[in-house]
Amino acid sequence: MRLTDTSIVKKNQLAGVGRAGLWAVRHVLPFACVGAAAALVYAGAVSVDARGLTASVLCAAALLAFIVRESLHARSDCPGGSARSLVELRLLVLAAALLQLGTVLARSAQLELGAVLYLFALVSVTFFSRTASVPALALVLALEWLGGGGPAAGDQVELSRRLTFSLFLAFFGAFGLAFLRTEILRIRAKGKEHLDEKLRVITEQARDFRLMSVPSSHVDEGEEGTDSEEDRRAEILCVTSALHEIHSTIYTLLDVVRRTMGLNACVLLWEKDSGEYLGIFEAATSSGSISDAPIPIHFGLTGAVVAHGKPIRICPVPSDTAPIPYYAEREDVSSFCAMPVEDGSVVRGVLCADRLTEDAFTDAECEVLEQVAEQAVRIISTERLFLQLVKSKTEQSRLYRASTRLREAHTCEEVLEAAFESARSIVDWDLAAATLYDPHTRRHRVLHAVGEWEEQVAGLSWRDNGGLVSQTVRMRHYLPYKGKYEAASQTVLIKKVRFKEARSLLVLPLVAQDKAIGTLLIVSRKEGIFSQQIRLLLQVIADQTALSYQNALMVRRLEELATTDPLTGLFNKRVFLEALGRNSISAQRYDKKLSLIMTDLDKFKSVNDTHGHPVGDQVLIQFADVLRRNAREVDVVCRYGGEEFVVIVVETDAEGAYRMAERIRRDMERERIDTGTGTVRVTCSMGVATCPEQGPGPEELIRNADEALYEAKRSGRNRVVVSSAGYRQTG
Ligand code: GH3
Ligand code: MG
Ligand code: MG
Repeated sequence: MRLTDTSIVKKNQLAGVGRAGLWAVRHVLPFACVGAAAALVYAGAVSVDARGLTASVLCAAALLAFIVRESLHARSDCPGGSARSLVELRLLVLAAALLQLGTVLARSAQLELGAVLYLFALVSVTFFSRTASVPALALVLALEWLGGGGPAAGDQVELSRRLTFSLFLAFFGAFGLAFLRTEILRIRAKGKEHLDEKLRVITEQARDFRLMSVPSSHVDEGEEGTDSEEDRRAEILCVTSALHEIHSTIYTLLDVVRRTMGLNACVLLWEKDSGEYLGIFEAATSSGSISDAPIPIHFGLTGAVVAHGKPIRICPVPSDTAPIPYYAEREDVSSFCAMPVEDGSVVRGVLCADRLTEDAFTDAECEVLEQVAEQAVRIISTERLFLQLVKSKTEQSRLYRASTRLREAHTCEEVLEAAFESARSIVDWDLAAATLYDPHTRRHRVLHAVGEWEEQVAGLSWRDNGGLVSQTVRMRHYLPYKGKYEAASQTVLIKKVRFKEARSLLVLPLVAQDKAIGTLLIVSRKEGIFSQQIRLLLQVIADQTALSYQNALMVRRLEELATTDPLTGLFNKRVFLEALGRNSISAQRYDKKLSLIMTDLDKFKSVNDTHGHPVGDQVLIQFADVLRRNAREVDVVCRYGGEEFVVIVVETDAEGAYRMAERIRRDMERERIDTGTGTVRVTCSMGVATCPEQGPGPEELIRNADEALYEAKRSGRNRVVVSSAGYRQTG
């Protein structure tokens, strides 16, 4: 008897046949189509009536049109679904063409091919997708009606023949759709169920041999098309072939032993269902009464071998002993020997050998059986090692993809997005969040969160506490120990935040230059998803994230330094000139107004002289706030230099800009600046210029606004002057 799962081999053979078929369809079919088209034209030419010729030319034209369309499609890289319907179309068009050819020839020989056409309708509707079968049916109908040039007036017989044909065709189509197609779908669903069951058995066996380590939930529920799902499929394929290898090698081994020792059966039992039972893994025997039923691990003779880890030899086997557990009926076994099979130092299986004759197992035979048991374990270990290698290669490529993604991220937001995405390729999370810790204020805050429970945590900020995030930062070590989430007893961020229905949770420290700058939090509804291996991979991603985030922060700070004024936090002159250039171009292009307010504090020098520079600085800061308060989101407020500021007021005419300037002026007038010994008031003067009235380009706009400002100073300060300069094109 051979228990090896031969369906794996068959499946591979079938896949080979499928590939060859597909190759033929791709490479031979186009030529066949062209050949059919030529044959049609010829058949039409030699046919006895003109209708045959018209029909053939029509059919050939349709055929060629499809071939041209297809070759155009083939050039654009079409995904699997449309490729399949293209192949179907090709097949159907070919079939339709051949049918028409047959009809033409049959007509000339006075034969009817209606039945074949009905069959064709049935097959196309039943087996092919609607995109392929509907046009094919339409083509057959069109050929019948148009190809013949339409029935001659008064030809009632011909008309009713065609109507009957169309009705039958419609009937067959509907029948195929309603019954056969549904049946096919049912069979397909059953096939899928069968495959799923097979996959489950493979996964279970693989786990019994410790070939796979990730929980099964991950196998079934991975997202279609994700990196991790592809990796998972590749892993299952490797595990399947490893299992096949183990089965066939061990079977050969057992069979050789059976033949050379003259055994009735040589059976390898292996633990299953987490060690509760023993099951037959391979059996070499000619007996027909071997049973597949699970054997309780401590039952009977094999149970004794597992319990004591020692071999047993019995000859003759007394009739009152427990039966040999792998036989369904009591077999007349006279001599029995069982060896423990140890994987590491743990007994995981039993190698059994029995004879119907009363020949006791000799010491030499027992030694051989012992070696066979060791060899079986070695075979499993070798495959395990091989899988480990494949797995580490897959992990390496996953990590490589993740680190490339993180390296390519430049802004802080991009880094966090890349981190979440990379984590997704390792584990299917329901919430991913990143937190940052500020050691000065001793506060944590959530930088970014995506997924379930996102609203609960987004933007959250809290004082350092005893929660998992705080502890992780303090200890620079992942938490909790087994990645298990218990809502009732664990505080993750703050007590109030609970992740309802979550089962697994992991907080990983983001460590950069030996300091934990924050954490990466990953939560899932699934249970037990954070195996040690997964956790290690996630930690590598967390480390890379911390590094990339720090780099992005540094870039952001450098950018800020280059673009903002450190005293007021407003943009500097460089940004102003850039923004003005950009805005004046788009104002001209879209025929929009653009205004510029230039402002200078009045008698500021005397503030410095009287109250000192620090008070002067405070005035500048407060004035910047006044400007910010009065500007809209789209306006650009900059420190032009010293105590001069500018506001680019987009899509606003002179009047609107004047109103804004007046508001600023009045606000500043009301502002009180603390001098330490009292308060001081400082006013400002402003000049307004508008584009296009005061010049199309930024230079004219600045010059005219500056002149208006000068005018405001000259006419008494603390006022707004709108430039009245008219722009004249020169040169
Ligand atoms: P006016 O009304 O004509 O504008 O008179 P003013 O005194 O404001 O004259 P002016 O524009 O010449 O004075 C500019 C003063 O601003 C001179 C300089 O000491 C002071 N200043 C420039 N930058 C800073 C700064 O960053 N901090 C402080 N405290 N003072 C500054
Ligand atoms: Mg001044
Ligand atoms: Mg000045």
